[in-house]
Amino acid sequence: MKNDQSDSTAVSFVDEVIAIAIRERASDIHFEPRENEMIVRIRVDGVLRRIGTVTAELRERVISRLKVISGINLTERKKAQDGRASINENVDIRISTLPVLYGEKVVIRILNKLSRPSGAKSLGIEDENLIRYKRLLHSDSGLILIAGPTGSGKTSTMYQMLTELAHDEVNIVTLEDPIEYNIAGTNQIAINERVGMTFPAAMKSVLRQDPDIIAIGEIRDAQTAEIAYRSAITGHLTLTTVHTKNASTLLNRMDSIGINTAMMEGTLRGVIIQQLVKRVCKKCRGSGCEACGGTGYYGRVGVFGVSTFTDKVTPDRLRDADIALSDNCRNLVERGITTKLEAEHVLDFL
Ligand SMILES: [Zn+2]
Repeated sequence: MKNDQSDSTAVSFVDEVIAIAIRERASDIHFEPRENEMIVRIRVDGVLRRIGTVTAELRERVISRLKVISGINLTERKKAQDGRASINENVDIRISTLPVLYGEKVVIRILNKLSRPSGAKSLGIEDENLIRYKRLLHSDSGLILIAGPTGSGKTSTMYQMLTELAHDEVNIVTLEDPIEYNIAGTNQIAINERVGMTFPAAMKSVLRQDPDIIAIGEIRDAQTAEIAYRSAITGHLTLTTVHTKNASTLLNRMDSIGINTAMMEGTLRGVIIQQLVKRVCKKCRGSGCEACGGTGYYGRVGVFGVSTFTDKVTPDRLRDADIALSDNCRNLVERGITTKLEAEHVLDFL
């Protein structure tokens, strides 16, 4: 009887935490075992916030419940595992477990279709950046790099571009690790090393499938960089994301993963550099109210710098993208959309 009770408590606790996270627009939920309890935190607009604590008695049951709903092996506690579950028609979750000092840490990524931006304008691409962005979408081959620091919304931008590119006349294929959202009108492939579906293996098959546009989730090493480069020079419009703090250092970054400047020239069509800034709460204009939890901010907005290329790729031309991003940032401050403080954080990267 007692066991049944704690099981149902764990079930309703997990349901409640997920419901709160969705309501609060969280991107992630962290379950962190400590010596005598487990802390639950959610990430909203990039910042973690504690929302609850689980007692030692309930801790294992909560973790078990999370594993059950995401199809993760219950008895395996010594290895990192990952799984996925659907909460409702709009929300999927991706779960990752990791053994730590006092048990297993579980992180849930919340994938909410309703919170995805729709349209380049809702991403925050405006003015001259928007004109260049549209020009990039009309390229018929070559490489488009979406660059920025971790958590700057690069994947959302890539998904937005693929959504705009998807129509009946083209075959779009994506290679992703993992797939975050379904994009209508495209063929998405999940990389799965365990079953031999590696990047090179997937790419080999993709090239036999008559693709026009190929998207590679992220280039993070020589292997993925090589695949993106090959795709671009064999006549496919190729989109990918790359981790850099700014556009000026992009050539160094690419060189370090095996793509030198000579290779970039003639292949690179465009660079989109981006970051996210906190948006000033519309209700209180930043003074703090109930809607924004007294922070003065509500949600985030992208700041962008877009540069297009035809042949020469020089550090100066790349710096243009950083300059466009800082102009975009100042413009948002002038319009009261973000604050000087937020803009300074971004400009520190350039
Ligand atoms: Zn407010």
